[in-house]
Amino acid sequence: MFTLITLPFELTALQPVISEQTLSFHYGKHLQAYVDNLNKLIVGTEYEQMPLEEIVCKSSDAIFNNAGQVLNHNMYFTQFAPLNAGSHTPHGRILDAITRDFGSQENFKHEFEQKGTTLFGSGWVWLSVDNDGKLVITQELNAQNPVTKGLRPLLTMDVWEHAYYLDYQNRRAAHLQALWEIINWEEIEKRYITLSR
Ligand code: MN
Repeated sequence: MFTLITLPFELTALQPVISEQTLSFHYGKHLQAYVDNLNKLIVGTEYEQMPLEEIVCKSSDAIFNNAGQVLNHNMYFTQFAPLNAGSHTPHGRILDAITRDFGSQENFKHEFEQKGTTLFGSGWVWLSVDNDGKLVITQELNAQNPVTKGLRPLLTMDVWEHAYYLDYQNRRAAHLQALWEIINWEEIEKRYITLSR
């Protein structure tokens, strides 16, 4: 049985970058539906007792789609902090790794936004660590997650229209650019350090 994650902030906390209306639909309706569907689909299957990430790596079709979307959204929603809280620029080891692998923080953000705006259709853009410890940015369609390619994900932006259409309509690039203001880099660095151990 999977349960809806608890948000580490109020539904109004990410305004004006993400409105209360978008967050309440995205978290309370879309993510809740993926959780409910997944729970129904795994009853009586080999996936019933399996950890979420393992289901994503081993399943296909409807189970994969719902499990992938639960994993993706769990990582997505827990990477944010309100504008006046948390650290919204990278520091420490994650900043060192970004500078090493992308040249600068600006280059990294530019490549990330570019991959987000050029992803055709629905999906996600991800920052992950590869097998050599290098940071990589990938585009993943629909419910895909980089774990299925052996990558270890750190940060993501949801480019499904449900993530931004109420607030930004067709302006996906503007939405992606604004999301940097609420990324909680303390959380991203924590994920990075956990993976690098
Ligand atoms: Mn979404």
